[in-house]
Amino acid sequence: MFSEQIDKFINQKNYPAFSPKAVFFDMDGVLYDSMKNHASAWTRAMNESGLPFTDYDGYLNEGRTGASTIDGVFVKVHGRNSTDEEKEAIYKLKSKYFEASGKTETIPFANELLQKIKSQDIEIYLVTGSGQATLLQGLKEHFPGIFGQENMVTAFDVKHGKPHPEPYLIALGKSKLNPWEVMVVENAPLGVESATAAGLLTVGVNTGPLDPKVLHDSGASLVFDGMKELYDNWHKIITN
Ligand code: MG
Repeated sequence: MFSEQIDKFINQKNYPAFSPKAVFFDMDGVLYDSMKNHASAWTRAMNESGLPFTDYDGYLNEGRTGASTIDGVFVKVHGRNSTDEEKEAIYKLKSKYFEASGKTETIPFANELLQKIKSQDIEIYLVTGSGQATLLQGLKEHFPGIFGQENMVTAFDVKHGKPHPEPYLIALGKSKLNPWEVMVVENAPLGVESATAAGLLTVGVNTGPLDPKVLHDSGASLVFDGMKELYDNWHKIITN
């Protein structure tokens, strides 16, 4: 059922075969149901700093680093990048509102999928543009035995952030695997762009308000309607 799309990607890239040894997971919207809170925190922080921004812009920018999101708005409004002080002030405000938005729930079936993958001796990496302390610190509690320093790439490791391929290339370097041995799970168009630009087979999970077509158009080989659907089909994908 999925082998056609997987073969298409492998052939396009001239890879020998798809033989998954690691799965790279995005965090926001994949492991945590955090996007609503991120979007509204960004809107508040930007608007209070005199910058036009809507929740919809928040979803469009998902995956970018905070610095890149702020610069994007500055270039539109002021025709220049933000200074370090401006970036720091706005990101601090955004983080404050995000933290105040209460406890972030995990995405249903995210932990179940991670534990299933671990039991199959397939490696797991986190690849996120986020530097949000509460979520990063909560990973060990919410997804026990999965994440440590050695298998994480966060906002603190990257210069460019998504949609640049850098975060996924760093993870690929850490894993010491070939690109055809890796699969990516992403929920955002810019995240899918980043992963496919790094040459990786990408599965889209649609956990937000987007039309699933957007994820296909960004380069996802397979798109699932939420994590449960991916969990239910896991065996078929991995043994395609
Ligand atoms: Mg995401």
